[in-house]
Amino acid sequence: MPAELICFERFCRARYSIDAVLYNCPRCGGLLEVTYPPPALDPDQLKRLWRERRTSNAPLDQSGVWRFRECIPFLDDERHVVTLREGNTPLLEAPRAAIYAGLDRLVFKHQGFNPTGSFKDNGMTCGAAQAMRLGKKRVACVSTGNTSASMAAYAAAAGMQAIVFIPHGNISYGKLAQALEYGARTLQVEANFDQILALVRVLAERLGIYLLNSINPFRIEGQKSIMVEMLDQRDWTPPDWVVLPGGNLGNISAFGKALREMYEWKLIRKMPRLAVVQAEGSAPFYALMRSMDKSSLKPVEKPETLATAIRIGDPVSWPKALHEVLNSRGAVTKASEQEIADAKAQIGACGIGCEPASAATLAGIRKLRMSNVIAENADVVAVLTGNLLKDPDYIYRYHTGQLQAPNGVPIHPTYGNQPTVVPNDADKIAELLSARPA
Ligand SMILES: *Cc1c(COP(=O)(O)O)cnc(C)c1O
Ligand SMILES: [Zn+2]
Repeated sequence: MPAELICFERFCRARYSIDAVLYNCPRCGGLLEVTYPPPALDPDQLKRLWRERRTSNAPLDQSGVWRFRECIPFLDDERHVVTLREGNTPLLEAPRAAIYAGLDRLVFKHQGFNPTGSFKDNGMTCGAAQAMRLGKKRVACVSTGNTSASMAAYAAAAGMQAIVFIPHGNISYGKLAQALEYGARTLQVEANFDQILALVRVLAERLGIYLLNSINPFRIEGQKSIMVEMLDQRDWTPPDWVVLPGGNLGNISAFGKALREMYEWKLIRKMPRLAVVQAEGSAPFYALMRSMDKSSLKPVEKPETLATAIRIGDPVSWPKALHEVLNSRGAVTKASEQEIADAKAQIGACGIGCEPASAATLAGIRKLRMSNVIAENADVVAVLTGNLLKDPDYIYRYHTGQLQAPNGVPIHPTYGNQPTVVPNDADKIAELLSARPA
């Protein structure tokens, strides 16, 4: 039985061939999802096989995505795989962040350890493999940064041309620099993310370019591995909660699908609850969850947040995200710019660090603790989506008290750590270092 594409809309459920170049259902416009029959191996055999592959030197086995290839059997030829050894990211204990959140214990799954520094690599290895299978020479995406960095890297590794569309003036330099260094053709468009996405869909169709935006169902398949790897690392004990930031809502869709499949395939006996955290100025999904009518999402016209990776007003994957949050009895919350900035400094103070969007998780957990949605003794895994070095400018401004929210309101450096200028004088420096820190 081959893999297929299936329309996510319950009333439609149209099926399409796995190698059809589609981003939405031609019949109803719904989102598409990849579907498979259950794996041939039983749960214990799968768990053993995946664990054994950790000692293998074969490229596919060394990838934290393809090691679990029985969960993503959409290719007919493994030679189409492009891997940079993505995934393989650690679970990190963070006692200090746990105290900050009001939890007994907190563990971060840090996707910033990926080859291009974000979880986009988990998905992009699959999206790039599908592009290779389809014989595509050019791939494109619109991106607030990390998708373009990741796509540029995988396209370069595979010998495809990458075309990156970026909202003019709204991207961190770390991410833009990556796209340039990996050789992507980079076009900065004077429009916001949602407008550019509409533009690029027209261009992809017209020029036969393969689109690797998060609407691409194969990227979602790759991002499932974040949950599979997390469960493998926990010897298949599911946590009570998995918490992550939400922008376009592809990642929450991937996590939900992964956990549903793991449950159906009897790899786990309990579904963790999924919590999504949005930035206050870009929180259409939060608004949807609060509203009585969940049949359509009302886009935020001018999304604003310094956490640029989640600065999305009209998230494409919201129907999937809604399903996954409800199905897991999950939660959605939002965090202010100040809350995100302070949470980020706390994650840094654990010796861990992350980019601003990732820190929304800790800010959100703290709020869900205060409202008692998450219990003090809950077993919580928070996913840090991107690397600290993605946005050093934000960090410097925070610690030196120069960071401002998009509306101009200053962000207080609650946990600021200013560099100090000192004279070239051993006595003076010794005196300074003997004094108690301010
Ligand atoms: C893409 C991204 C997000 C948002 O993920 P979605 O799947 O769009 O919800 C969050 N954090 C980082 C660092 C990202 O790169
Ligand atoms: Zn449909």
